[in-house]
Parts: sequence; C-alpha cells; structure tokens
Amino acid sequence: MLGQLSELDVGAVKARAPLAHHCSWRIGGPADLLVEPESAMQVARLVGFAREHEIPLLVIGQGTNLLFDDAGLRGIVLKVGARMAQLSIHGNRILAEAGVWVPQLARQAARNGLTGLEHIIGIPGTLGGLVLMNGGSHRRGIGDNVRRVWVIDRAGELQVLSHAQCAFSYRHSALQDSGAVVVRAELECSTGDPRAIRRAMVCDLRERRRKFPRKEPNCGSVFLSTAEMHASVGPPGKIIEEAGLKGTRIGNAEVSLHHANFIVNRGGASAAEVLALIAHIRREVHERIGFELRCEVRYVDPQGRIMPADQAPQVRSSL
Ligand SMILES: Cc1cc2nc3c(=O)[nH]c(=O)nc-3n(C[C@H](O)[C@H](O)[C@H](O)COP(=O)(O)OP(=O)(O)OC[C@H]3O[C@@H](n4cnc5c(N)ncnc54)[C@H](O)[C@@H]3O)c2cc1C
Repeated sequence: MLGQLSELDVGAVKARAPLAHHCSWRIGGPADLLVEPESAMQVARLVGFAREHEIPLLVIGQGTNLLFDDAGLRGIVLKVGARMAQLSIHGNRILAEAGVWVPQLARQAARNGLTGLEHIIGIPGTLGGLVLMNGGSHRRGIGDNVRRVWVIDRAGELQVLSHAQCAFSYRHSALQDSGAVVVRAELECSTGDPRAIRRAMVCDLRERRRKFPRKEPNCGSVFLSTAEMHASVGPPGKIIEEAGLKGTRIGNAEVSLHHANFIVNRGGASAAEVLALIAHIRREVHERIGFELRCEVRYVDPQGRIMPADQAPQVRSSL
C-alpha cells in the first residue's frame, strides 16, 4: 500500500506513524499510514484511493479534540496541517486553507483590523477542525463567520458549501456526518479598531492561562457545555468539581486540579485509562444529580470510526 501511495502523489506518506505524536493528549498507538497532503488535488486523490481499495480513512488536523485508541488505527490517517496553510485577506473576507493554525488566523485578522475572531485566539487547532466542530469560545462558534466551505466529498469531488448547507449549531455542523474533508474556508469579519481587537485577545489568553492546565498534555474541555445545561445544572467543570472529582486519577489519567472539565495525561496515560475516567465521572455525576454528561472530545476506534467519547463502547454501557 505504501508503494502504491507514493506513486500516486498524495503528499508525504509515513508508515506505522505513532498517533501519540499527532494529538495534544499524547495518547494513541500507530496508524498503518499517515499522509500529509499539500493541496486539495492530493486530498481528492487520496480519498479516491481509499474508497477504491475500501481502506478506512480518518481526517485529522492537530488532534486537539481527539482520543486515539491504544491499538492505533488500521487504515490511513489524512492530516490536513501545516502543509496546507495558505491564507489571504480581501477586504473584510479571509480565504484560508484548512490547515491554517487557528491562533495564527486570529492574529492575521487582528493585524488587518478585522473583528469577530477574537474568541478563537486561544484555540490550539486547525481551521478545518474548528469549522467541523463549529468551535469557539464565549458561547460563540466559528460558524457565525463562515460564508463558504470547500470540501472534498466522499466520492473525491470538490464541492463548495454555503453557510446554510453547513447547518452550524452548538459545537456541531452538518460536515461531521458527511465524511467530507474540509480544504478551504471563506470567513467574513467586520472592520474594527486594531487596538481594541488586540486587547480582547490578550485578555482572553490571560484568562485561559489562569483557568486552564498548561503543562500537562490535555484535550481541552472533555464534556460539552450547552446553554440549556448552564441554565439547568451549570457548566460541566462546576458539576464535576461539586461531585468531589477534582484530582481523581485512573492510572495516569487525572481530572485536572486547575479545571475539572479537563483530563490531563500525567505521563504515559493510555486511552483505556482516559475512557475509564470519563465513564467514572459520568456515573458519579449521574448518581448525584441525575444528569447525563455528553462529550465534546471525540474517540477514534482502531477501525477509524469516530464518535463523541461518551459513545465509545467502553463508556456507553457505564450508566
Ligand atoms: C488547551 C485546549 C483548549 C481548547 N479550547 C477550545 C475552545 O475554547 N473552544 C473549542 O471549540 N475547542 C477548544 N479546544 C478543542 C480543539 O482545539 C478544537 O476543537 C479544534 O478546533 C480542533 O482542531 P484540530 O485541528 O485539532 O482538529 P482534530 O482534533 O484533529 O479533529 C477534530 C475533528 O475535526 C475533524 N477534522 C479535522 N480537520 C478536518 C478537515 N480538514 N476536514 C474534515 N474534518 C476535519 C476530525 O476528523 C475530528 O472529527 C481546545 C483544545 C485544547 C487542547
């Protein structure tokens, strides 16, 4: 398979790539193959190849919202990252490839006096992952700014989707269930005062430094925090803390002492340990207040299937 792919011109190909090197939790066994394309054309070729040979294909960005299995992945990982990271600004519109580093995108907007992206300055992933997750902060999502998204669909064809077709909702988009690879997006901002924009970004980064764990590998917020949940039971960090779970440890996976909605890797944690800890937290919270916590973090099984971590078989049966 390696030889066939190298001949096909799909970008840089690595065999038996440790997935722990491609995610912020630093967890996960090897992928059979990891490919880093440089263009939408190479992405399309790879999607076509995987489809023709019926090989599982998983798309990732910087792996900051993913838990890979300890057994790794029997298939191909398509990483859209630094090799696909062109960005240009046209008036109040930004055209960016999916591999653009999100904090870099926010900084470019600020430099050009464009407002609306201040809330993404501290999110350590790619634009592709952010669009797919409709990620953001301060109860906002990148979807608010997305005008068009270019994707390679399951058939290997380039499609251009409108804002409406992406059907953005809280930490969700229609892209999540489509199997499409995001290759580029057009974002619309408003013009603003560069100093005010920069001030808002500095403030956000300071707040993150104060609230979130910085040294130990983690994946950001593990559990989803919706508006309805805030109104009824409060944010997940507060619920988990009130259940007395801060500092709870299974193996080398630990509920962060800084923020209870983070699970940190204290060194050599396994995916099995993280899943067991997620199951434990959900069980304790459910017993205490009768609420079912849902995961924002996504688990990838060895067959390349991807799902919210609470849907992993090891967790699903735990309530
Ligand atoms: C310290 C820390 C803080 C965080 N803070 C926030 C926050 O404030 N708000 C927030 O929303 N998130 C936050 N996150 C989570 C994460 O950074 C975001 O979800 C980010 O947008 C994921 O981008 P990624 O490139 O790492 O995607 P990955 O984790 O690699 O993938 C996430 C999902 O997107 C898919 N995907 C990735 N790239 C593509 C593509 N090009 N085409 C199609 N599908 C793709 C993957 O298949 C997967 O389903 C945080 C994470 C960390 C570690």
